[in-house]
Amino acid sequence: MAQIYFAEENRSVPVNTIYCIGRNYAEHAGELNNPIPQSPIVFIKPATTIIHSGEFIELPRASSEVHHEVEVVALVGKPGKHIAREAALEHLAGYGIGIDVTARDVQEKAKQKSHPWAVAKGFDTFAPVSSFVKAERVGDPGNLDFQLLVNGETRQAGNTRDMLFPIAELIAYLSSIFTLLPGDLLFTGTPKGVSRLHEGDKLRAILGDNLVALEVEVRKERYGH
Ligand code: ZN
Repeated sequence: MAQIYFAEENRSVPVNTIYCIGRNYAEHAGELNNPIPQSPIVFIKPATTIIHSGEFIELPRASSEVHHEVEVVALVGKPGKHIAREAALEHLAGYGIGIDVTARDVQEKAKQKSHPWAVAKGFDTFAPVSSFVKAERVGDPGNLDFQLLVNGETRQAGNTRDMLFPIAELIAYLSSIFTLLPGDLLFTGTPKGVSRLHEGDKLRAILGDNLVALEVEVRKERYGH
């Protein structure tokens, strides 16, 4: 079962539901020619998408255009339903950095047909995550720098202050629909700069001033095992 590990602590929690937010940064919505949403766009990844540092994003045969989307990830620590925005951050146990790996060609076809994104977002290995820092150690989750380097070059850099829907608002919104449970993850959306991954690419994602980092590589999916 997929786990989330805490940095500087010998502790892990099993991953429950993985919630993700689409188009939460205006400049990223623009680069894919998407309108800015009026309410959060929510989708879910299966827990089998989770991998950790030292593991591999596997490119599936079903796609010829797999993209990286670096995102700040929040971990729910306390259950709740209909959580007030003012109390939302108290429900979070920690923060990490992750990559919402996306089969863009599969997603474009789904969007044209108004089909869901589950396939484009849900292949095994499509949710690499770092270890997590405890929420108390993160001063203001509304002002966190983060970035992604591919083969040593910065491809994406963002700050959570540019979110269209801040983390507290996302937690309040999600909890108006779903009962949030310990072990739930929230991928909070990606800034501009998404691009295609190739076999052999080395990715390094960093949260804040090196609070935590994630290092994964890319390879083709292995079949027949
Ligand atoms: Zn995303």
